Amino acid sequence: MIAVLKSNATKQQIDNLVEWFEKQGLRVNESKGEYCTVLGLIGDTTRIDTDLLQGLDIIESVTRISEPFKKANRKFHPEDTIVDIGGVKIGGGNFAVMAGPCSVENEEQIIETAKAVKAAGATLLRGGAYKPRTSPYDFQGLHEEGIRLLIKAREATGLPIVSEIMSPEQLPVFEEIDCLQVGARNMQNFDLLKALGKTKKPVLLKRGLSATLKELLMSAEYIMSEGNPNVILCERGIRTYETYTRNTFDVSAIAALKELSHLPVVADPSHATGKVSLIKPMSMAAIVSGADALEIEVHNCPKKALSDAAQQLTPDQFVGVMEAIDKARSII
Ligand code: PEP
Ligand code: MN
Repeated sequence: MIAVLKSNATKQQIDNLVEWFEKQGLRVNESKGEYCTVLGLIGDTTRIDTDLLQGLDIIESVTRISEPFKKANRKFHPEDTIVDIGGVKIGGGNFAVMAGPCSVENEEQIIETAKAVKAAGATLLRGGAYKPRTSPYDFQGLHEEGIRLLIKAREATGLPIVSEIMSPEQLPVFEEIDCLQVGARNMQNFDLLKALGKTKKPVLLKRGLSATLKELLMSAEYIMSEGNPNVILCERGIRTYETYTRNTFDVSAIAALKELSHLPVVADPSHATGKVSLIKPMSMAAIVSGADALEIEVHNCPKKALSDAAQQLTPDQFVGVMEAIDKARSII
């Protein structure tokens, strides 16, 4: 960060400011020019409030010269991070497919679906027990019972489980869940992010409906700054003026996130498009764009699904998508 001081700043004022920066743990490089003084701030400036600085009498301008996300930044960690979900690795060349229903609905549904996705080659089981629905009158998930059924499905298949957590209070219920998903609607639920940062659990952090990549990375930073490095980023489509698809799949986000960050990147073509017919081509697009994993909704009987029925694949359709995924992987 660079702070340019006004030409009328006195030596005493400058010394006081330098002392304050040093108390914040920063090193200060002072360069006195003919007309003004420039302070170069070296160190972790993420806690410095630029608006507050800008308001000081002696400051002309403040410019960040490095991104505010430090721990998630590839410049600070050039190698890819590999996140281990119950023995399944994602990132650094390790590819995974997490598949399963939008919501856990009953024992038969989740066990049948889990077995089918495993047989087709998925390595992780997904399923929502707590559902963030747009309408309060829609199915909200089976809650603790859903978690219990997911654990049963893991016992039946050996697939580690990914499930969405909506508040810090739910953490005890998720103790046995292998990967905690933060849904798009909770991407900036900072209390939740901080609480997850205090655990060591892998966190699948989904991009908010209208969040920029920088905002997504700052949310990852919330988790990482509390001490949890096991964060996976997820592109799941963003809100645009297009209505043919449920959201607009931002494929460039995958490559851009890989450029900006060392964290693994997952693509979710199900929520990105909302359409069964688009899951295969968008899965392939995600893979050639560098995705480290895919999250795909599969239901043993999508017609009867209690949520997201239009986008869930049948087990047979999922087999076809897995074949296409293998083909795409063979050409990268
Ligand atoms: C989900 O994965 O079922 C889900 C609700 O996803 P998103 O938060 O991306 O909408
Ligand atoms: Mn869903």
